[in-house]
Amino acid sequence: MALGAALFGFVIGVAVRTATGIDSLGLGIGVIGGVVLMLLLDAVRGHRLISWLRGNQLENAPRDTGLWGEVGYRIERAVRDRDRSVARARLELEQFLSAIEASPNGVLMLDPQEQIVWCNRVAADHFALDPQRDLRQRITNLVRAPAFVAYLQTGNFAEPLVLGNGRGPGTLSIIVREYGEGMRLVLSLDVTERVRSEAMRRDFVANVSHEIRTPLTVLSGFIETMHSLPLTAVERERVLVLMNQQTQRMQTLVADLLTLAQLEGSPRPAPDRWVGLDGLLLRIAADAEVLSGGRHRLHLRPETNVELAGIESELLSAIANLVTNAVRYTPDGGEVEVAWRLLEGGNGELTVIDTGLGISREHIPRLTERFYRVDGSRSRETGGTGLGLSIVKHVMQRHGGELMIQSDVGKGSRFRLVFPAARVRQASDSALGDEAAFNAAALSDH
Ligand code: ADP
Repeated sequence: MALGAALFGFVIGVAVRTATGIDSLGLGIGVIGGVVLMLLLDAVRGHRLISWLRGNQLENAPRDTGLWGEVGYRIERAVRDRDRSVARARLELEQFLSAIEASPNGVLMLDPQEQIVWCNRVAADHFALDPQRDLRQRITNLVRAPAFVAYLQTGNFAEPLVLGNGRGPGTLSIIVREYGEGMRLVLSLDVTERVRSEAMRRDFVANVSHEIRTPLTVLSGFIETMHSLPLTAVERERVLVLMNQQTQRMQTLVADLLTLAQLEGSPRPAPDRWVGLDGLLLRIAADAEVLSGGRHRLHLRPETNVELAGIESELLSAIANLVTNAVRYTPDGGEVEVAWRLLEGGNGELTVIDTGLGISREHIPRLTERFYRVDGSRSRETGGTGLGLSIVKHVMQRHGGELMIQSDVGKGSRFRLVFPAARVRQASDSALGDEAAFNAAALSDH
């Protein structure tokens, strides 16, 4: 460029000297011309670089030679480095935020004025917030639960706060951590299930204690009577019979509790252990006849010729519970029937039908709760523990099936056990299957 300007100055100088004939004027104008041209070209290059810098720098910097080119190149490199590290930082931030977004806990960041800086979807759901619209809003204007507002104001976050869920009847556990300069991190955890199962556990222990205490109180009363009063042989016998009844009641309760505990703790029943339904019904019918003592018309043994895949003791317990309930809750002269049918799709349905007391609609959804009884005194009088249907439901769930209840007060009830097709087969199928297996084995021997 300098060479070009010098050449330009020289040409101008020669032209001026030729025109005027004055040597020094030609020299002066030539030098000035050269310098002006150089400054002009410099200004153009500088302007180009500044225009590029003012823009978004998406294109390359002007590729000039010399000093401006070098400056442009260096600046472009610095700009590209900066862009790269900004992009990296943004990506890391996005990954970090999506990790927090994926957290099962609610995360909410508050600035020193308690305004929402950021929150994930779980927190938005917990506190009934809109993650976009509610940004920069004061949290206490949006979450107005007095306990929450007071908790934030106290500044004492050693213990978590347990609070009703903003969107529903659930329960949240809220922890606040302070960070940075006056910033706060609010973590929320849905503890509805935990609170519910703790309440259930408490209720369960209270119920069991109550159920055991009653016969124990009666027993200790009898023991005291036998100690302190001279009883005749007949009275003694009567007291012993009553004591025996109470002991039996406790034994049944403990047996049902153990069954429940076993159901909860053991693995799912294998899908390939087949139990003959007719054999089960034979045993159940024998017990039911004893329980009924001839007071009911019983039809408990349909010829099903079916096998069910599962655990024999559990299936026996589920069906027996329904049949004994039907007998216990059906007044004398009533009828109890067991029916079996194959449903469309191969599911099997065992129904226990009675013409007994029936159950009013509002009780039906709660019947499978532990210790839930419609008529407590009838249940106890007939040796009930309040756990029978809960055991039935558990057994059916474990076998992939379902318990369905229909009932009309005063007319009777229908308890249906639906078994999935995979756990139902005709007994003759199994014989064929065994024969086929035998033939296959025989063939492979040859
Ligand atoms: P329980 O040991 O009290 O019979 P269950 O769990 O077997 O306990 O049954 C729960 C309640 O459901 C019973 O207390 C009874 O009120 C009602 N119930 C169960 N089966 C029948 C039935 N076949 N007819 C009328 N009521 C029934």
